Amino acid sequence: MPFTAIEAGSVAVITGGAQGIGLAAAKRFAERGLKVCIADLDEAALAAGAEALAAIAPDGADSVMAERVDVSKVESVRALEAAVNARFGGTDVLMNNAGIQPGSGIFGPAEAWERVLAVNLWGIIHGSQVFVPGMITRGRPGLVINTGSKQGITTPPGDPAYNVAKSGVKTFTEALEHELRNTANGRVSAHLLIPGFVYTGLTARGRTEKPEGAWTADETVDFMLKSLEAGDFYILCPDNDVPRPVDERRILWAAGDIVENRPPLSRWHPDYQDAFAAFLKG
Ligand code: NAD
Repeated sequence: MPFTAIEAGSVAVITGGAQGIGLAAAKRFAERGLKVCIADLDEAALAAGAEALAAIAPDGADSVMAERVDVSKVESVRALEAAVNARFGGTDVLMNNAGIQPGSGIFGPAEAWERVLAVNLWGIIHGSQVFVPGMITRGRPGLVINTGSKQGITTPPGDPAYNVAKSGVKTFTEALEHELRNTANGRVSAHLLIPGFVYTGLTARGRTEKPEGAWTADETVDFMLKSLEAGDFYILCPDNDVPRPVDERRILWAAGDIVENRPPLSRWHPDYQDAFAAFLKG
């Protein structure tokens, strides 16, 4: 039962853990008595996050670490793993969650694409490749949670670099779970967190109040914990605008572009508006 990894005394490492969904997860883990390491690029947010966690954790600051990391750099992730091992003895719950969304265009600039892919996709590959072998040999129940996106599944127009990275996160995490469930005596499982619209620094875009349609980071993490408890691999979060049945139809429609030999992204093609609307109604 992978969920047993989330218990008092276990060690959780959360990248992008200084704010947003990552910090909300770190808080839930700390409340449950896990030792928690938040790892992030933003030092000011790390310091504030560590203070908030120490106030919640049953053992206070003794069970909280805050490490500066750049997940796009493998040596930085290796240093993080070594620091966690030295302080807490190993990792049981790994949440590869750091992400950016600066926007992109199909023709570049290439440097912007390289950064989005380096953080959002390579960050998750680095985290998994550096931490998971040690989690397997540790022999304890373990969880890897990689944060993907609906944009990596239905790939809407507008931000192709982000979609490419998040599609890669989905594919990588599926392959990781296949590997883990075929590992002899393995006690580690992988899971894909697919948030809906969540009000965080990533999506605020100048807003100071949560839009009606968005979930809070706390709601997202509570849904994630319930899904992990149920053993779900795909943690497909709704939000206040999009209930699960709508996501299901959108995902099926996207897959249907291939099966039905429609143009790609036909959901946004004028010739398919009516057909999609009818499909959505089921
Ligand atoms: P956020 O901006 O609040 O948190 C992201 C964190 O990642 C920040 O603390 C940031 O400093 C950190 N970070 C950025 N680059 C980093 C790097 N190179 N190394 C280490 N840390 C780095 O945003 P969030 O909404 O909490 O995002 C968390 C994850 O959820 C991201 O992967 C994002 O793509 C994903 N997501 C968010 C939404 C949403 O609606 N908010 C929807 C789908 C997916």
